[in-house]
Amino acid sequence: MKSFIETLNINNVKIFRKTVDTLQVNMGKLCNQACVHCHVEAGPKRTEIMNISVVQQILNLLRKKNNIKVVDITGGAPELNDNFKYFIKELRLLKLKIIDRCNLTVLHEKGQENTALFLAKNKVAITASLPCYTEQNVEKQRGRGVFIKSIESIKKLNKLGYGKGDKSLQLNLVYNPLGAYLPPDQASLEKEYKKFLKENFQIYFDNLLTLTNMPIKRFRHTLKRKGELESYKNLLFSNFNPEAAKNVMCKNLLSISWDGKIYDCDFNQMLEIPVANIYKNIFEINSFEEVSREIITKDHCFGCTAGAGSSCGGSLL
Ligand code: SF4
Ligand code: SF4
Repeated sequence: MKSFIETLNINNVKIFRKTVDTLQVNMGKLCNQACVHCHVEAGPKRTEIMNISVVQQILNLLRKKNNIKVVDITGGAPELNDNFKYFIKELRLLKLKIIDRCNLTVLHEKGQENTALFLAKNKVAITASLPCYTEQNVEKQRGRGVFIKSIESIKKLNKLGYGKGDKSLQLNLVYNPLGAYLPPDQASLEKEYKKFLKENFQIYFDNLLTLTNMPIKRFRHTLKRKGELESYKNLLFSNFNPEAAKNVMCKNLLSISWDGKIYDCDFNQMLEIPVANIYKNIFEINSFEEVSREIITKDHCFGCTAGAGSSCGGSLL
């Protein structure tokens, strides 16, 4: 198996950052769930949480000249961060598109009773995980009771206007495979999801985003335990698609960790692979434009370039 960099060279593909139009902000590793595939290794006992000074510095940088149009908020469950609502209100003033990566069950947690309404009022787009439309498969990956709670949350969001084609109240669902295989075709699976969820639960969403599981962190441990790590890595390698490689998400985004460090993407963040800059923290820069165009790629990047490709926005092709 060749390395990712060798594979790029053979295929004459270069990956470097162009215009940064998306800022992905990881507000911390605290989560009410502890899913088996989680590349953040998030869970209820994690204490790494973004504090207000990091939030303020992100806002300071966003107020300066830049090309960022979208702020994509993730975690953990970002809603559990006490600064979450403040951050969103300030982002709204900056007229940025805001995405909340919501695990749906968090809306049932104590203290989150008004979160769905808050998100709707602030026109926050929601991207929510639902790795299958059957109860058994969802709970295998995400834990007991998760499926029904997720369905109830989608119903609540639908009542608020989400998922019904209104561009200002987008509800997108995320599918990721339950095992060591690539996601199926995004458009066909979206049709199946829509049909099944409408017929069985009378619920609606806008788009389905299919994601490839990265062989890192918790999913890597699972693959290793099952003796499937090498075959999964080979699967990603043998499905390398140069067209997908030309469109990887790191070309247009930066990722910020709970403690203000800057990364090329959320995966590099979890692997603690910093950006190529000499300045690696938001407190050391005066503008997001100062971040290097070089992107640090390693062999986990095969997870973004296999088949139709994968990004936080779904398949790449
Ligand atoms: S809900 Fe998301 S962040 Fe939380 S454990 Fe599951 S995959 Fe990780
Ligand atoms: S893992 Fe990150 S750095 Fe590697 S190709 Fe994907 S987005 Fe780019």
